[in-house]
Amino acid sequence: MKYKNTIIAFGTLIMFLSCATNPLTGKKTLAFVSNNEIFPSAFAQYDQFLSENKVINGTSDSEMIKRVGQRIAVAAERWLNANGYQGYLEDYKWEYNLVEDNTVNAWCMPGGKIVFYTGILPIAQNETGVAAIMGHEVAHALANHGQQRMSAAYIQQGLGAVGNIAIKDEQTRDIFNQSYGIGSNVLGMLPFSRSHESQSDEFGLTLMAIAGYNPDEAAELWKRMKANSGGQSPPEFLSTHPSNDTRISNLQGWAPIAKAEAKKFGVTSFRPLGEF
Ligand SMILES: [Zn+2]
Repeated sequence: MKYKNTIIAFGTLIMFLSCATNPLTGKKTLAFVSNNEIFPSAFAQYDQFLSENKVINGTSDSEMIKRVGQRIAVAAERWLNANGYQGYLEDYKWEYNLVEDNTVNAWCMPGGKIVFYTGILPIAQNETGVAAIMGHEVAHALANHGQQRMSAAYIQQGLGAVGNIAIKDEQTRDIFNQSYGIGSNVLGMLPFSRSHESQSDEFGLTLMAIAGYNPDEAAELWKRMKANSGGQSPPEFLSTHPSNDTRISNLQGWAPIAKAEAKKFGVTSFRPLGEF
């Protein structure tokens, strides 16, 4: 029975398989859920999440999250336009919310729907730390890593009719939440692959640098993340793949490249860290 389900799943996969270009690598990647299929569901899921959680508004922290988010989004748009991806963000509806929750987590759903939990702020430590996390999460969203992970989850579970991804039952909603790391239960989340993490780390640096935040600070953020993780099962950005040490040294190596990239956009100096 399981075997039969797998056959059906692969048949479905072939039927709905399409190619999308990953702007981070310039390569075609397989995706069988497209933006216009997944964005409406993502937006609905996001609104539902906000209605069920305590969204913080009007504080200096919540304003800072929005400010950093807007700057990273502008940086993404500038980079995409300069690299032949005009119109890539057409269907995006950026939103940046701070949610009262002690969980050390942040995530970006398809179409630019971002949540930071208050629990991550002490580790972010300053506005530049927030920019490093924001850049990383936005990079995942731009590369459609979540869609790829979601597709993989469907195949794994032998779910058939996935051409229309509308969130209509609990099982689909669970896969969606797991795929994007939504909610406090990060333990139940599907991990991003090592290559996805590295791509997002590298491109996240470029985004933060173009937005005027010093990319040297990303490695410093990860040192704090490492100190905080204390052997517990890590949330998405604390993923052990690549290991924290590899990640920190990669970030240190990539920071000068990100600065050189930012220079092409006229950014030659960076904002103060922005203590909060
Ligand atoms: Zn990540």
